[in-house]
Amino acid sequence: MVSLEGVGKSFGANRVLSDINLSVESGEVVVVIGPSGSGKSTMCRCINRLETIDEGRILFEGRPLPAEGRELARMRARVGMVFQSFNLFAHRTILDNLTLGPVTVLGRKRSQAEERARELLERVGIADKADQLPRQLSGGQQQRAAIARALAMDPVLMLFDEPTSALDPEMISEVLDVMRALASSGMTMIVVTHEMGFARSAADRVAFMADGRIVETAPPATFFDAPTSERARDFLGRVL
Ligand code: ADP
Ligand code: MG
Repeated sequence: MVSLEGVGKSFGANRVLSDINLSVESGEVVVVIGPSGSGKSTMCRCINRLETIDEGRILFEGRPLPAEGRELARMRARVGMVFQSFNLFAHRTILDNLTLGPVTVLGRKRSQAEERARELLERVGIADKADQLPRQLSGGQQQRAAIARALAMDPVLMLFDEPTSALDPEMISEVLDVMRALASSGMTMIVVTHEMGFARSAADRVAFMADGRIVETAPPATFFDAPTSERARDFLGRVL
């Protein structure tokens, strides 16, 4: 689905990504963990070209990422992204949030887009919120709406960048449950998170990043029970 080959990226003199190699198969769930500032968000942003890279290449569905224009827009429409801050359109109803992209970008009929939006709201457990504004929802509900909005574009890949970090503790599990169900449904996912329980139960592979490098990649059982690198042992010692 997506592969990063020798990817490097700097912001000025600050080298943020070095020799990143990561390949994600269709249907695979890769959870990315690592200390703050290790480059996790930057790597996600490079995958849908919200950032450009200085070295290496990124292939999406076997082809290099388009540089710009219609090709890039088409590629981005196939990649759903969910951030820490929910980024819903504040002055639009939840239903509008879900139908806007499909209608304007994909050219779907409004009625069709609404039908699909209601299905997705049902799936994430907030069917009754369709006509509300984002601020009328709890943080957990807003994040579930943001996931549903991403899914409304029928993505083939979903990127999550710390989707539960801004949530009150009691709302984290409702969002993780939606993500777990999505993972079980066969969606290809790259998930940056500090939720180690989620990583252990939902990941096919864990990629551990430190100082802009992927230090270790392993199935969760292997990674959590027997990390091979000193950096990973140190990190796990502090978060577990
Ligand atoms: P993480 O998500 O793992 O916390 P980030 O990818 O956000 O790490 O950041 C990695 C490094 O890149 C940090 O040193 C951060 O300050 C820097 N960085 C991120 N985005 C920018 C930017 N737009 N301009 C300059 N530096 C940036
Ligand atoms: Mg980050």
